[in-house]
Amino acid sequence: MTDLDAFRSETRAWLEANCPAEMREPMRDESDACWGGRNPAFKSAAQKQWMDVMAQRGWTVPDWPTEYGGGGLSPAETKIVKQEMARIGARNPLMSFGISMLGPALLKYGNEEQKTLYLTQIAKGEIRWCQGYSEPGAGSDLASLQTKCEDKGDHWLVNGQKVWTSYADKADWIFCLVRTDSKAPKHQGISFLLFDMASPGVSTRPILLISGNSPFCETFFDDVKVPKDQLVGEAGKGWDVAKYLLGHEREMISGMGLGGQGESLGAALGHALADDPVLRADVARFDVDQMAFRAMSERFIDELKAGQAHPALPSMMKYAGTELNKARHELVMAAGGSNALEWESDRSKKGKAPREWLRTKANSIEGGTSEIQLGIIAKRILELPGA
Ligand SMILES: Cc1cc2nc3c(=O)[nH]c(=O)nc-3n(C[C@H](O)[C@H](O)[C@H](O)COP(=O)(O)OP(=O)(O)OC[C@H]3O[C@@H](n4cnc5c(N)ncnc54)[C@H](O)[C@@H]3O)c2cc1C
Repeated sequence: MTDLDAFRSETRAWLEANCPAEMREPMRDESDACWGGRNPAFKSAAQKQWMDVMAQRGWTVPDWPTEYGGGGLSPAETKIVKQEMARIGARNPLMSFGISMLGPALLKYGNEEQKTLYLTQIAKGEIRWCQGYSEPGAGSDLASLQTKCEDKGDHWLVNGQKVWTSYADKADWIFCLVRTDSKAPKHQGISFLLFDMASPGVSTRPILLISGNSPFCETFFDDVKVPKDQLVGEAGKGWDVAKYLLGHEREMISGMGLGGQGESLGAALGHALADDPVLRADVARFDVDQMAFRAMSERFIDELKAGQAHPALPSMMKYAGTELNKARHELVMAAGGSNALEWESDRSKKGKAPREWLRTKANSIEGGTSEIQLGIIAKRILELPGA
């Protein structure tokens, strides 16, 4: 038995003993996700137990160093933990922008004090984070952002507005792009700042989505005082941190293309396809595309974890994964016919299919639009000449 085989057996036994049965059931909807935070809202005792036991073992972030609350595992061991969790259908114990976005950026750009403080809180699910990037005049052209950050000697003073800030009304802290130098070329005057959403001068206003939910907000900063040591990296060099974080965000979003834990769309739709050969052919094509995406994704993630990937690879993954997820939900709606448009009539399901379908429309916008990803792929991977 190799060391990895032994690790797999131990992991399997530990998960069997520690993952509550309820946490092996598929998530019914977004409300089944555990986000942790300063005032965590656990849906059940099992959900809390699962997060606690995983955090204690460092397995909310298996590949982070143990001194920052991680599991200290190698990429191969981390993959085994994920495979063994998938084998028993274990839920993700902790959804967190801290884990998927801020953490990797802090590991690369944070100083020792920042890593020790923030990474440990993230690993334990103690602080819920939101992302303050987009502004009313800065989306695809993110570097045009105008939120002003002045050096006031013993603190920073922040004034401005963000938009589309997902879960800003529920988050404890924000990682935020601000302009510290308005005279420098636009990419060079940006800094990466962390602050508490409970700071005086921070306010949020929810924005309702077409799907009927409201995950995101407008976020306003009015004379917000931020301690000096909460700037990550150097002042004026925040664009490097921002881009690195975006790579991780895009990798995370691309996971939508995996379509859950393995059942083919053909199998999921079953008899709905019986009388429609055209739809059946479309679904078969989709299933083949999804298998190809899963294989590609596994290879790319191995390359990313080994530090051997092209830096623009997450753009390819994000583009392919989100377009695939949109195609999946188009097919679900087509197979359901007019019944799939049901919105409120069955209260128990609350119009799950059309709401999920509408939500996928945002997949190719969030984290940078598909057009922007195609531009990056053309320029940086295919090395095509610019317009
Ligand atoms: C569900 C969701 C969650 C989000 N969460 C967050 C969050 O938590 N924090 C945050 O900061 N932001 C968040 N965003 C915002 C997101 O990052 C922006 O919406 C996105 O970057 C696009 O910016 P925009 O909406 O201003 O569109 P615009 O930049 O105005 O783009 C409009 C259209 O023009 C196209 N376009 C623009 N420039 C080019 C170009 N150079 N080449 C080709 N086409 C182009 C775009 O592809 C798009 O179709 C979220 C968005 C969504 C949908």
